Amino acid sequence: MENTPVSIPQSFIQELLARVDVVDVVGRYVQLKKSGANFMGLCPFHGEKSPSFSVSPSKQFFHCFGCGKNGNAIGFLMDHAGMGFREAVQDLAQQIGMQVPDDENTSPQDRERAAAQRQKQATLTDVLEKAGDAWRRHLRESPRAVQYFKGRGVSGQVAKRYGLGYAPEGWRGLASVFPEYDSPLLEESGLVIVNEEDGKRYDRFRDRVMFPIRNVKGECIGFGGRVLGDDKPKYLNSPETPVFHKGRELYGLYEARNAIREHGYALVTEGYMDVVALAQLGFPNAVATLGTACTPEHVHKLFRFTDTVVFSFDGDAAGRRAARKALDGALPYASDTRSVKFLFLPAEHDPDSFVRAYGPEAFARHVGDAVPLSRFLLEAAREGCDLGTAEGRAHMLSNARPLWAALPDGALKRQLLTELGELGQLPAPDLAQLALADAPGDHVVRAG
Ligand SMILES: [Zn+2]
Repeated sequence: MENTPVSIPQSFIQELLARVDVVDVVGRYVQLKKSGANFMGLCPFHGEKSPSFSVSPSKQFFHCFGCGKNGNAIGFLMDHAGMGFREAVQDLAQQIGMQVPDDENTSPQDRERAAAQRQKQATLTDVLEKAGDAWRRHLRESPRAVQYFKGRGVSGQVAKRYGLGYAPEGWRGLASVFPEYDSPLLEESGLVIVNEEDGKRYDRFRDRVMFPIRNVKGECIGFGGRVLGDDKPKYLNSPETPVFHKGRELYGLYEARNAIREHGYALVTEGYMDVVALAQLGFPNAVATLGTACTPEHVHKLFRFTDTVVFSFDGDAAGRRAARKALDGALPYASDTRSVKFLFLPAEHDPDSFVRAYGPEAFARHVGDAVPLSRFLLEAAREGCDLGTAEGRAHMLSNARPLWAALPDGALKRQLLTELGELGQLPAPDLAQLALADAPGDHVVRAG
């Protein structure tokens, strides 16, 4: 559910749908061929080798004879590109130069500001795309960078799919790509750093292999760069910019979105090299957070594409801490129809090294055996508590309370209450009362 309270008038939606062409919209994502009155292509919603996905220009509808998926241009963007309703409408309107009506209360100034902001964002993604193109060319010319990726087992095909590149050594390499190196856009896009003291400018990314970060529409919104050797910092990301927000974006989601549907789950890892290596090793459904803990927004975004999310963590203490943060992020979305699991690898491994050492089958088995959210919640609650004492049990329950309260209502939440009751040796009704009474943010009026 989108948390935009403003509704868009139905008349606007009608006009929008009359003016966009679903063939163009779908054609941005799926290769279509004219076939009679319609266009056909490989269905992006289910894996297939011969096309059964049809797009009708006269009906302005798409329909798959294989899996039955169908809808209009807005539905396509929501289902395929993972956009929210308003986002999809906005996207379509922008393409044909229509202005989505805002809330009546919005002032003309606000409207102008919003339009200017969208314009700025489009400009920034263009600038970033251009830098990415240049770095892809540089990769081909740098045997050292090519060797780095080869050494990690990355094929040319996977490198292409992820748009990998290389930012060469030197302080102003991008000056050859952007003759107006002084343009404020280069600073705003995070490509160039301006020294505060002398105002001198230089490239942020130097002598690094480059991973473009794309939004769900496929636009380049930032980069991750990794050193080829052991220099520090090992990983460097674009700063927060008007188009890039670490807490919202997942590396590899654009590239993985079809595979997530085909594999039936999304695998969340900790680094972009994990994502690329896993894609190479048969897990193209992996994504990564960008040097931040997993946020509720990340989880929300993933659940637009799948009902099953598996978090993968390194088996060390840091991985365990990251898992706890991911648990907090996932709890509000762990409804009864969804599944969230936690995969812990042996301490010395990350997903890349694990698959290399034990093979894809072993990794797939580990994924299958991942710890369900309910069990991880119980483990997290009882950590450090001696359940042999009343104090320990009470402590465990107090740890569990905020976690349990964050779950959406449903059967899972109720079952966990029963389990917590057994573990804490309190009957569920008592527990419910305790939990509900003290849960932060909950306002429960109790009788008597
Ligand atoms: Zn289909």
